[in-house]
Amino acid sequence: MEFRDLKKQYLKYENEFDQAVKKIMLETHFISGNQVKQLEERMAKYVGVKHCITCGNGTDALSLVLEAWGIGQGDAVFVPNYTFFATAEVVSYVGATPIFVDVYPDTFNIDIEHLEKQIKNVIQEGILKPKVIIPVDLFGLLANYEKLDKVAKKYNLLVLEDAAQAFGAEYKGRKACSFGDAATTSFFPAKPLGCYGDGGAVFTNDDNLASLLESLKVHGKNKEDKYDNIRIGVNSRLDTIQAAILDVKLDAFIKHELSDVNKVYELYTQRLKDYVVTPVIPEGYYSSFAQYTIKLSSRSERDGLQNFLKENDVPSLIYYTKTMHQQKAFSYLSNSDTDYPVSTKLCDLVLSIPIHPYITIEEIDKVSGLIKTFVQMN
Ligand SMILES: *Cc1c(COP(=O)(O)O)cnc(C)c1O
Repeated sequence: MEFRDLKKQYLKYENEFDQAVKKIMLETHFISGNQVKQLEERMAKYVGVKHCITCGNGTDALSLVLEAWGIGQGDAVFVPNYTFFATAEVVSYVGATPIFVDVYPDTFNIDIEHLEKQIKNVIQEGILKPKVIIPVDLFGLLANYEKLDKVAKKYNLLVLEDAAQAFGAEYKGRKACSFGDAATTSFFPAKPLGCYGDGGAVFTNDDNLASLLESLKVHGKNKEDKYDNIRIGVNSRLDTIQAAILDVKLDAFIKHELSDVNKVYELYTQRLKDYVVTPVIPEGYYSSFAQYTIKLSSRSERDGLQNFLKENDVPSLIYYTKTMHQQKAFSYLSNSDTDYPVSTKLCDLVLSIPIHPYITIEEIDKVSGLIKTFVQMN
């Protein structure tokens, strides 16, 4: 069994992928081919924002926005303590200071009450200037933007939605990548919408930000002439081949993958809800299920279950084994576990089990059956 079966997806659309790639081989516009612009227009429309600016990966997408906003030394950027490293990494990378915020125990997303407390702390200390909040839509579920936007407004902070795990997710019909002042996603192969390599994008309604990003991602080029460099930038583009692959994948994503993965969620939850803590999707939210993450009652039970699944050829992963404040790279910030009780505890209890649109009912039954057996034995 695969944790996320990308081969099955390829085989289902083999002809479409092969033709799309072959076309680019023959056209030879490997960088900035027409397919890139077309994909950006299609994605902006799908998400419901004015601009989609593709780039090399989801991490660059985040740092490009921070750079465009002029975030750097002396600035505080608020980041959930429970996320993939890149969310916090980019803050330090541009020279600013990440301020970690604990998360809710049920949705795993940024705790808005703790966020406000952390903002007040930074203001009171008077050393750093609060500038940006980077909420993460973890495992495919959108953060609570209704509450978050109020806090952002109150303290005059910019919001950068990290939707790397949530392309396709919704809240009351509004799509992921349309929240905040700008949003980013990743097309890393295992994300809800992945390509066959690295890829990422920024989404925004802000015309000035969009044109600044177009420049920054290509060596700080002038709008008309890429050999006229008017600022320091980077080289971060989505390959034409990846854009063509994403165009094929977006068809499948819209047509059936997103609804199929939600059916898998329902089937798992029916089978597992009396045995373990299953994912919480609050009223009005639609998840794109980058992960199906269950919670066990203790670290030993979680580790035991993971071993039991492994013995029976079922892969599972721990997202995440460490919080941000526990990463060695952030030890210089001297945060402690007691400041982050929820995220620290989650690392002991979570387990993500195989989920993707191509998983079979037999596989779902096998995984669920093993989990039930294990929990009943213990
Ligand atoms: C994957 C991920 C990123 C980074 O995306 P890459 O394309 O791998 O650079 C950023 N934030 C979160 C929450 C992610 O899961």
